[in-house]
Amino acid sequence: MKAAVLQDNRFVIEEIPKPILDEYGEGAIIKVIGCGLCGSDIVKMRTGKAKNGTVLGHEVVGEIVEINSKTNFEIGDIVALGHHVPCFHCQYCWGENYSMCRHFKETNIFPGGFSEYIFVSEEHLNNTVFNVNLNLSTIEASFLEPLACCIRAVKRAQIKDNSKCLVVGLGSIGILMGEAIKALGHKVYGCDLIYERICTSQNFGFDKSFLLKDEATLLKEMKSVAPIGFDTIFLTAGASSATEFAVKAARDGATIVVFSSIKDNDGFKNNDIYYRELNILGSYSPSPMDLEDSMSLIEEGKVKVSGISTVYSLEKINDALNDTMSNKIMKAYIQL
Ligand SMILES: [Zn+2]
Ligand SMILES: [Zn+2]
Repeated sequence: MKAAVLQDNRFVIEEIPKPILDEYGEGAIIKVIGCGLCGSDIVKMRTGKAKNGTVLGHEVVGEIVEINSKTNFEIGDIVALGHHVPCFHCQYCWGENYSMCRHFKETNIFPGGFSEYIFVSEEHLNNTVFNVNLNLSTIEASFLEPLACCIRAVKRAQIKDNSKCLVVGLGSIGILMGEAIKALGHKVYGCDLIYERICTSQNFGFDKSFLLKDEATLLKEMKSVAPIGFDTIFLTAGASSATEFAVKAARDGATIVVFSSIKDNDGFKNNDIYYRELNILGSYSPSPMDLEDSMSLIEEGKVKVSGISTVYSLEKINDALNDTMSNKIMKAYIQL
C-alpha cells in the first residue's frame, strides 16, 4: 500500500506492507479516506520525536474493510477516531489525567493516518472510534480529534459564568478552541499577528478579535472589552512572546491554559504565578469522553468545522506541509 513515510523532515511516498488483521489480534482494518495534518505532526517532525520511517497522521476518517472483533461496528461503516486509549484504572486515570496514562501513550493506530490502510485494536473500537453521521462530510468528521483536544482544554479551565476568555493564536486550533468556548456559553475574544485570521475568527463566532501590531497598543485596545484583564486565556500559539503576552493580558488570579510548546528554557515566572495568583494549567490530548463530546458538537452543528481545511492528495503532502508552515492555509486535509 502507499504511505507518506517520514524521511529527514520531509514525507516520501513509498510502498509499504498493508497491515494484516490477524497478525495484530482483535480489531479492524480501516481504509483511510482522509486524515488531517496536525500541528503536533509538524512538531514531532521538527524536534526529531518522530524518527525516519515513521508514518504520521492521527486525525483519521475511513471505512472499515475488515473486522475480526465482536463490537457493534461492521464492514462498510464510515468512522472517525482518536488514536490513544487510556486504561481507566491506573493512578493517572483515577486523577482524570487520561492522556498521562502510560497505556494511553503506548496505544496507537498502525502505521499512521497518512497511509492507505490502518489497523485499529478492539480497545480502540470500544473507546475511541465513532460512526460518522451521514449528514457530515468526511472532512468535517476529521475534526473529531482536534476539536476533542480543545474541548478537554476548555473543561479543564473550569470557566465560570460571565468569564471573558481570550484565545492567543487564531490558527485552526485557536478557531476550534474559540468555538468550543462559545459552544459552552462563554464570551470569547481572540488575537493574532495575521489580519486574515482576525477576519476568519469573526466568521466562526468570536465576539471580537484583535490584531497584534505592537503589544502595548494591543493591551490598551483590549481594555475596551476586559478592563482588568481576561479571566481565562488559552495559549494556542507556540511562541515565547505569546506566553509573555498572555501573562500581561491576564487579570490577577486568572487561569492560563497552556496548549502549545515553546523553547525549552522559556516560560512562566515563578513570581508572576505567586504574587498574581495565576493558575497555569496544561491540557494535552483528549480522553474518550472528550471525543464523544466532540462528535456530538460536530453532529449537532454547535461547532462549525467546514471551511477550515484545504484538501491535498497524498502525493502532495509536502505541499500541505509547506503551506501549513508558511501560514498560507489554516489546516490541511490529506485525501487518500
Ligand atoms: Zn491532532
Ligand atoms: Zn490509565
